[in-house]
Formats: sequence, C-alpha cells, structure tokens
Amino acid sequence: MGGIPINISAWGMEQADFDEAVVDIAARVEELESMISTYREDSEVSRLNRGEKLDHVPHVIAQLAKDAWLTSGLTRGAFDITVKPLVELWRKCRKEQRLPTEDELSAARSKVGFQKYYATTERLGAFKGSDSLILTEPGVMLDFGGIAKGYFADEAITILRLAGATRCLVDIGGDIVAWQADSADMTPFRVGINHPHSSGEIFAVLEIPTGSVVTSGSYERFYEIDGRRYCHIFDPRTGKPVEGMLSVTLTAPTGLAADAYATAVFVMGIEEGREFVENQPLLEAVIIAEGKNGGMEIYISPGLVEGIEFIAQ
Ligand code: AMP
Ligand code: MG
Repeated sequence: MGGIPINISAWGMEQADFDEAVVDIAARVEELESMISTYREDSEVSRLNRGEKLDHVPHVIAQLAKDAWLTSGLTRGAFDITVKPLVELWRKCRKEQRLPTEDELSAARSKVGFQKYYATTERLGAFKGSDSLILTEPGVMLDFGGIAKGYFADEAITILRLAGATRCLVDIGGDIVAWQADSADMTPFRVGINHPHSSGEIFAVLEIPTGSVVTSGSYERFYEIDGRRYCHIFDPRTGKPVEGMLSVTLTAPTGLAADAYATAVFVMGIEEGREFVENQPLLEAVIIAEGKNGGMEIYISPGLVEGIEFIAQ
C-alpha cells in the first residue's frame, strides 16, 4: 500500500482460499487507495479537495467522512480530517527549509475545522438515496491519512473471514487488526510496541485475543526544518504540530476506531488523553510523552496494566 508493507496471517483455511483472499485484499486496498489517497491526483478525495463537484461520491468516502466527523465531535476537535491545509503548508516549508510565516499559518488555520464539511450517506441521514460530501468553502481539504490504515485493515479482516479463516491478523505498517472465531482457541496475539527512542527495538508487548492495536508515533514521520523535528500530527485547534509527545498505542474493537483515537489521543497529550481513555470503556492506551532530561513519561490505562510485558526501557 503506497510502499507500506501489509502482512496477513490466517488459520483454519485452505491454502488456495488464503491465496485468493490475499489477491482480493490487494485489489480492495488498491480500490480504496485510488479513491481516498491524496498522493493520487485523480482520486475522488483529491478532486473534491480541488473544489470539483463530483456526480457521484463513493459511499465509502461519505461514510468515512461521517465517521470522522463523529470522532471530531467526541474528541472535541482533536481528530479532524480537515487538517490537510496544515499538512500542505508544512510540507512546502520543509522543501523550502523554512518555518511558515504567521500569515501563512493563519491562512491555513482558517480552512481547518470539521464544521467546514458535512457528509450524508444513503443508509443513514437526511438525504435518502444519495451519498454526498460537501466542503462548505473554497480551500477546505480533507486528509484521511489518520484513519485509512486502520480501516483498510478492517476490510482485510472481513475478506479473510468471508473466505473462511477462523483466526487471522492483518498488519498494515504496524497498525494491527486481529480476529478469531468463538470456536478458535482464543490464544491471544502478541503485539509489539516500538520503542519511541531506539528504532527497531520493541518497548513492550500487548496481548489481544481480538480487536485492534494502532500506534501514532512522532518518531515515524516528521518534518525536519533547520535541524529541528516537527511532528506530522497537528493540533487542529491551534494549527501547530503536536509537541512533547512520543507515541500513543491504542486498542479498540476496530481498526478504524483504534486509528482515529490513536491520532486524537496523540493530539490531546498525556493529561487530556488519559482522562479521555478512562472514560471510554472500549478503549485502552499506552501514552508515551517526552519526560525530563530526555526521558519518557509513560501512562498505561488500567485495562492494560495486567497484560503488558516490558521488553526494553
Ligand atoms: P496517524 O499516523 O494515524 O496518527 O495519522 C497521521 C496523519 O493523519 C498525518 O500524516 C496527517 O495526514 C493526518 N493528520 C494529522 N493531524 C491530524 C489530526 N489532528 N486529525 C486527523 N488527521 C490528522
Ligand atoms: Mg491514526
């Protein structure tokens, strides 16, 4: 997927069915990417972002936009797919090796906010019979980068289940969704959390019987300008790259939820993030922030304390 490796494991099915499922997953990911990716100029999302009116908005885009909108509400704006103007501004500044000016920042910020779009879907919503996605002013642009991998992993799991797997795991660039049938032995999957300071090292291992584990980390991707690193995740409320955070690993029932909330909790930071996670019964998190003297400040939510195994510190 756009250079990101996908690993697929499954049990309880014939090799031929597995091989066919892998082909179907590759085709589905390609199909989704061709609609959603902003790296592709001809994707539906890129066309909407350029202000084109589409005759037909693919259902999946309207649905994802709607889910993202609800997540924005629940996270008080920490998660917001309208961050795209900020992403573009910082990308341009990295190329030019300079910081954005105040004018550039406020121009980009004025185009950010989940109130600046709305989506309706065929199955639910005011307009029966059509999917739609409306950007309310010129310059508003959407970026599904904060949820795409998790959603793609959910789709891959569905394909494996339909093909007869009784136990399966999909890993898209480290974002993981696992599932097993009630009839399976329910041996938990062991999922490593990368060490935010030393690359290639595993910091801790979580065990999940089913569900998703997704990490948002500032060590993964960043903008380096004049020797300083700026995070690829933005606080939509300030328009600035998030500071002081290393990683958020979040567990949730689906990849879509885990991916969205990992990004959101990363924006919230350790204090607000902790309170948020503790109020959501289906979410658990490991939040790692920069500590004093180059150290780390670590929060582990109550539901994970028992099951976590530390490897390197
Ligand atoms: P993730 O790695 O899942 O945390 O997603 C990060 C990507 O999501 C970034 O590269 C941006 O494309 C986009 N993004 C950045 N900040 C936000 C935010 N606050 N809400 C939603 N998406 C964001
Ligand atoms: Mg995410």
